[in-house]
Amino acid sequence: ECANAMLDVQSIETFYGETQALFGPSISVGEGEVVSLLGPNGAGKTTTIRSILGLTPPRNGRVFFDKKEVTRLSTHKISRLGIGWVPDDRRIFPSLSGKRNLALGARKTRFRSWSVDEMVEIFPALDHLMVRDCENMSGGELQMVSISRALLGAPGLVLFDEPSQGLAPKIVQDVMRTIRRLKGEGISCLIVEQNALAALEVSDRVYVMDRGRIEHEGSARELLDNAPLRRRLIGM
Ligand code: ATP
Repeated sequence: ECANAMLDVQSIETFYGETQALFGPSISVGEGEVVSLLGPNGAGKTTTIRSILGLTPPRNGRVFFDKKEVTRLSTHKISRLGIGWVPDDRRIFPSLSGKRNLALGARKTRFRSWSVDEMVEIFPALDHLMVRDCENMSGGELQMVSISRALLGAPGLVLFDEPSQGLAPKIVQDVMRTIRRLKGEGISCLIVEQNALAALEVSDRVYVMDRGRIEHEGSARELLDNAPLRRRLIGM
């Protein structure tokens, strides 16, 4: 247990019907800490995020956010406490403008609030996206809208699910730069990634999952520096 953790996931077991997907992973993220959750397809990374958010509540184990137990709360209540989510499928309403999509995420919490102007400062391209319908946006443009929407919700913790998936390298770097900026603001980040190296570069610590269990936990530096260990754990 981690006394000053922003997120503390304790031995959760999550099922889809009768099929068990998570076999007791424990994960913590400190205040202003960036943590990567890596592992192959089907390891249970997305299910871990879904369990934290109450989308697939764990059958056993507990989840604490900001020192409050959230295990049995509704997704709506959990997100209102200040957990931001950047889902792998972005979940942007295609028929609405960038501006309308951002407005849907706006919220006050006990954490730092962000304005649309600040988001435009981080992502200059967002300025002209505000007036466009989201249905014709590129993957990179949708990702900017999605991250901005999460920040307008004043999160203390942001859960990034495959944030660099399908994005050009330049945009991946923009996303990673944003994660560094959040860390600088004291915001905690949990990054689920297949593109492990880019995530490791911005992370303090890393967990590697396989088949619903944590296989390795350590510093990101160690995994970046130790090529044989990295190859064994994440195959790259
Ligand atoms: P990926 O990178 O492919 O998203 P992941 O590490 O996020 O992989 P999960 O998507 O969490 O893995 O999947 C964990 C396990 O749960 C897998 O065995 C998967 O088949 C199963 N699973 C995921 N979603 C469902 C679902 N809706 N119904 C049934 N089983 C599911």
